[in-house]
Amino acid sequence: MSTRVNGIGMTSQRTRARLIERLREQGIKDEAVLAAMFEVPRHLFVDEALASRAYDDVSLPINYNQTISQPYIVARMIEVLRAASPLGRVLEIGTGCGYQAAVLAQVAREVYTVERIKPLYERARKQLSDLKIRNVSVRYADGTAGLPETAPFDGIIMAAAAPALSAVLREQLAVGGRMVLPVGTQEQWLYLVERDARGFRETQLEPVKFVPLLMGKA
Ligand code: SAH
Repeated sequence: MSTRVNGIGMTSQRTRARLIERLREQGIKDEAVLAAMFEVPRHLFVDEALASRAYDDVSLPINYNQTISQPYIVARMIEVLRAASPLGRVLEIGTGCGYQAAVLAQVAREVYTVERIKPLYERARKQLSDLKIRNVSVRYADGTAGLPETAPFDGIIMAAAAPALSAVLREQLAVGGRMVLPVGTQEQWLYLVERDARGFRETQLEPVKFVPLLMGKA
């Protein structure tokens, strides 16, 4: 791992600092999120052949027809989820390579992340453990049902787009909790769902492009 890190100079202060600078230009303001993005070595979550592009603001393939989300959207979703307050227990649906879970781990007390594709689940688990990130629990499961045995969550984040807002998932939010997720098929929008003592409030945020949420394990 150290040859990869040193060999291409990806961990240089400058490369990381440029990513953070770009995120600021794109409107990310939460210093805790920017610090978390600075902390996590994104190049270790993509194939070696793509490592030189790891700090470009693009999504990249991670096999099995899936992608690692673009840094901007990872930062944006976590910024909305955090709402400038510390996060307790968070659920992520769609671990993929584990990058977003690693960023979440910097700003949340405990992270549960669920992946339906076994080889991705296995690789993410290993990657997070190699990086000694210990407050993330990776599960191999269909996340459409959430994780009822571990609910309620202070935050839920979905990394794949559902055709409609899920009533099952929002029930797993704690009062005061927030859920950030892409919704739609052809046209997708990022939504924020907030739960308070009286019920739920939904806000449509911005257009996005995510892989679809799929049913069952693979
Ligand atoms: N969070 C990732 C993004 C992964 S892409 C990152 O940091 O880059 C979305 C992931 O959601 C894919 O790995 C896909 O397999 C997974 N996914 C899709 N439907 C799912 C479901 N029902 N349950 C769990 N994971 C699902």
